Amino acid sequence: MSRRNPSTDPAWFGRRLRAALRGRVEADGARWPVARPADEADLRVATEIAAQAGVPLAVRGAGLDSPGMGGVDALVLDCRQLDAVLDFDRDAGCIEAQAGLTLAALDAIAAPQGWRLALDAPGRGASTLGGLVGIDARLRASAAVAIGSRLEGIEVLLADGTVQRFGPFGVADATRLESTRASALVSGLFEIAARERETLARDWPMRVVPSLGFRFTALGAIPGAVGDAGAAVNLAGLLAGSRGALAISQRIRLRLDRRPAHRRWLALAADSFAEGLVRLPAIAGHGPVMAGLFDASALALAPGRALAGLLGPLPAAGALLLAEFEGEDAARIEAGLGRVLATCSGSGLRPLRLPASLGQRLATQVDALRMALADTVPGPAATILPEDCRLPPERLVEGWRRIDALLAERRLRVRWFAGGHDGRLSLRAADPASARAMVRDGALAAAVCRIVRELGGAIDGDRLDPAARAALVPLQFGAALAAAGEKARALFDPQNRLAPFVGGA
Ligand SMILES: Cc1cc2nc3c(=O)[nH]c(=O)nc-3n(C[C@H](O)[C@H](O)[C@H](O)COP(=O)(O)OP(=O)(O)OC[C@H]3O[C@@H](n4cnc5c(N)ncnc54)[C@H](O)[C@@H]3O)c2cc1C
Repeated sequence: MSRRNPSTDPAWFGRRLRAALRGRVEADGARWPVARPADEADLRVATEIAAQAGVPLAVRGAGLDSPGMGGVDALVLDCRQLDAVLDFDRDAGCIEAQAGLTLAALDAIAAPQGWRLALDAPGRGASTLGGLVGIDARLRASAAVAIGSRLEGIEVLLADGTVQRFGPFGVADATRLESTRASALVSGLFEIAARERETLARDWPMRVVPSLGFRFTALGAIPGAVGDAGAAVNLAGLLAGSRGALAISQRIRLRLDRRPAHRRWLALAADSFAEGLVRLPAIAGHGPVMAGLFDASALALAPGRALAGLLGPLPAAGALLLAEFEGEDAARIEAGLGRVLATCSGSGLRPLRLPASLGQRLATQVDALRMALADTVPGPAATILPEDCRLPPERLVEGWRRIDALLAERRLRVRWFAGGHDGRLSLRAADPASARAMVRDGALAAAVCRIVRELGGAIDGDRLDPAARAALVPLQFGAALAAAGEKARALFDPQNRLAPFVGGA
């Protein structure tokens, strides 16, 4: 669906916003300005003015997750001033805050009371709750794979100015639809899900949670699919992973996790990445909060070499598997470690000597390696290649072999790494020539998608260009489901006013 092409004069629009908002409005070289609403009333006024003027909207938090190949042609709403904590139940570990609250600020409030939002990505203190929900950020705890499963409720602002709170939605639940607009939206969503029941059962990846497209699982529409809500529908889950395409999150209510008293690491050397991949899902199943595998080329990065310095020499062509356990009870952690070691005996994975006193230094180096892999890719910031995917555990090795063969055919050099809890397999270019060659290779991107879909997996990418992400939706789900997802999106934003945020072009 095409967005309205505004005939509004950008200079007039900027002046109109400056006159109406208490927050700052800045020109940043693009056609439309960036507005930083001072509060929720400001946010609503900015949204209304954009609607009246026919100017598209893009919403952002810290903008850490939105690389793109082009700029964004929309009024950008930067929500970071909406950072109030509205409620904190210290006993239950439940917090409600505005969407612009940063992870660092949340931590400063929650940590002294023994709570945390256990984000899996290191070094993301500046990221906001709205952005973390927008991408459905992964969590460390094995019990909860992503932040979407921690949502109690979200108050959203629709692009037409309607405000509605989404939360548990069943016979006995408290979510009240405040307007005919909200009632029509929610009943329309359930109608689409009911109409598409057979297609959803046929084309949805049942074993992994997809990161693209509309979350039909939040409506309890796909019995048997991983992450399906079943009867426990919570409409807030629709916003998880929606990347600002459905509505603007204003207020987010989350359940937090207890901070652990004890931590232990396990490090295992594997002779090959494939050998580590075979064992990774079983190891993740034994309760670590983080289970990661890094190939030799990832370990060649400076933080990888520093890790090897702590652990002793690693096999030259091999891989390193790291698992971190944490909890209240030191004895249970030891028992978990023991179970992993027992499953590994005779497997070719070699436990590395790791005194408990090295734990903190190891944690720092592992974080540094993960950040280096995420942030220091040579070449362009955005790509059309789905560099990350999730696969059912028993298909991880096959997925890796087939994708690696495609890369080898093209003589591309990459670093491989994988995460155990959600079957995540990731690659990043290892040198600038490979980066330049692969980020725009449409045939490679399509071939990777076909492999992942055939193996029952989900395509993903921390660095995916937003336009490329949209183009991948039919490759993930097929044309019929992609169209159903688009109809569901259109119920939220019929005039297609919300544009994907793009930063760091
Ligand atoms: C190179 C790189 C590597 C990364 N690696 C990881 C990783 O390993 N694990 C991980 O979990 N994350 C990772 N991220 C993601 C990143 O850390 C988080 O997405 C980010 O910090 C989220 O917060 P933010 O405020 O920056 O979101 P933004 O980038 O500002 O926004 C993220 C998305 O959410 C939407 N959004 C923001 N605010 C709102 C709102 N109020 N209402 C509705 N939608 C909203 C935006 O439109 C956008 O689509 C990575 C990012 C990059 C660039």
